[in-house]
Amino acid sequence: MEIIRDPRQMHERAMQIKCSETTLGFVPTMGALHDGHISLVRQCVNDNDMSVVSIFVNPSQFAPGEDFDKYPRSEGKDTLILENENCDIVFIPDRRDMYFNHLTTVRMEGITEKLCGKKRPGHFEGVATIVSKLFNIIMPQRAYFGGKDYQQYIVMKKMVFDLNFNVEIIGCPIVRESDGLAMSSRNAYLKPEHRKTAPALYRELKRGRDLLLEGMEPEKVVEKMKDRLKDIKDLKVDYIDILTGSTLQVPSENDKHLRIFAAVYIGETRLIDNIGVELE
Ligand code: AMP
Repeated sequence: MEIIRDPRQMHERAMQIKCSETTLGFVPTMGALHDGHISLVRQCVNDNDMSVVSIFVNPSQFAPGEDFDKYPRSEGKDTLILENENCDIVFIPDRRDMYFNHLTTVRMEGITEKLCGKKRPGHFEGVATIVSKLFNIIMPQRAYFGGKDYQQYIVMKKMVFDLNFNVEIIGCPIVRESDGLAMSSRNAYLKPEHRKTAPALYRELKRGRDLLLEGMEPEKVVEKMKDRLKDIKDLKVDYIDILTGSTLQVPSENDKHLRIFAAVYIGETRLIDNIGVELE
């Protein structure tokens, strides 16, 4: 497995790969890899002749006061995992190389202000900018994104369409712990007592899905879910929203592919999750 740190060197290598008509898949990550990331890597390795995984804790997607400094970093362990998963290239750029005298951002309107964008202004701008840069450096045919960050996945799909990136965006299912908690690098922040509380989020999403399937109105379902969650110690709801799955819009009566999105704080830790609902 090659480890490349210099963006120019990564680009040259990607050009060589492109000239050899080899399909190149790409998985962007911020490292601290867990089974959720690994599921994306496996799918990528399976679908493509060659795979690149990037590890970069992207400062521009963290707002001031967020956890950029304390975000878990484990490069040595991550590269061992990736080698075992038959990844071909790990791209680990330096922050100074990626953002040298940087004046440009990629901004999207309409779907980035809602859900996670409300509490994290500038977050999706940071994501869209870094992923655009990574796409230009690596030039993959396919890129893999996890369903846990579903809004990010939709933002990526819209970005490649709007900006004519020649990359297929592939969404992958959410990988969960055995008690239902969606895997996340941030789960490491949870205190033991809060870790026990955390599966309540997915439990409530499933209850919400059942209520929608029974025919309850989305607004009522959101109310019920918030009502149940408010009684859980140290849990504070950030948002619960029910939107259309492909366009993230408020659903009309005719919309059948819905998704429930939720973010909660458990203690100091913010967790997000979502679930799809297919109405008859
Ligand atoms: P991150 O390192 O948090 O930026 O995540 C890198 C990629 O892994 C993103 O596309 C995430 O959506 C995906 N990912 C993170 N956690 C999970 C999970 N539990 N299941 C599936 N994909 C995930």
